Amino acid sequence: MKKDMVQEEGLLQSSLILNRKGLNHGATGNLSCRGNDAFIITPSGINLENLDADAMVEVGINGDIIKSKNNHKPSSEWLFHRDIYASRDDINAIVHTHSVFSSTLSVLGESIPPFHYMIAVAGGDSIRCSEYALFGTQELSNNIIVAIKQRKACLISNHGMIAIGKDLNEATNIAIEVEHLAQVYVQAKMIGTPKLLNDRQMCEVIDKFKNYGEWRKD
Ligand SMILES: [Zn+2]
Repeated sequence: MKKDMVQEEGLLQSSLILNRKGLNHGATGNLSCRGNDAFIITPSGINLENLDADAMVEVGINGDIIKSKNNHKPSSEWLFHRDIYASRDDINAIVHTHSVFSSTLSVLGESIPPFHYMIAVAGGDSIRCSEYALFGTQELSNNIIVAIKQRKACLISNHGMIAIGKDLNEATNIAIEVEHLAQVYVQAKMIGTPKLLNDRQMCEVIDKFKNYGEWRKD
């Protein structure tokens, strides 16, 4: 199998995992991975359950379609994918969802604080929420770049969330973990005031994750 088809198959498999986990519904959400010249992304307006590997669209750094076997358009949110790849050499895959609990918190416009040690999965002591801007705009992309700086996930105000990683496996796992954390945080706020970990406790967690080389769930 050619390298680009391996990537397209990877996008399909990650899309199916997100569907199975309930992180996507209908045609919402999009995924991409870095390609040779730019990136390969899920198409616009197609329900993820109807996707196949040939539906993926390769997009150049200036937004030109390089390859689209079925003449699909790229996701309407391709712009922030392009800008994340341009600004982050360490990132090769991006997962964006409108999953329920992350979206619920995003409408508050607040970062998720360190209420649970696994917040460090996103690379720091919080999961920031970007400023609001219209979907598909350069302004939204700019806001996301700020919110995800030195992190591997952020919420998007009044919209959803993004997880990024060195490969599709990492980005998908972080997206699933962030959605789980968002669910626990929403539920904790419903029954009380979450007790936050302090700076020293979060530094310990972040250091321990660094020593693992990659975060683990145990
Ligand atoms: Zn979106």
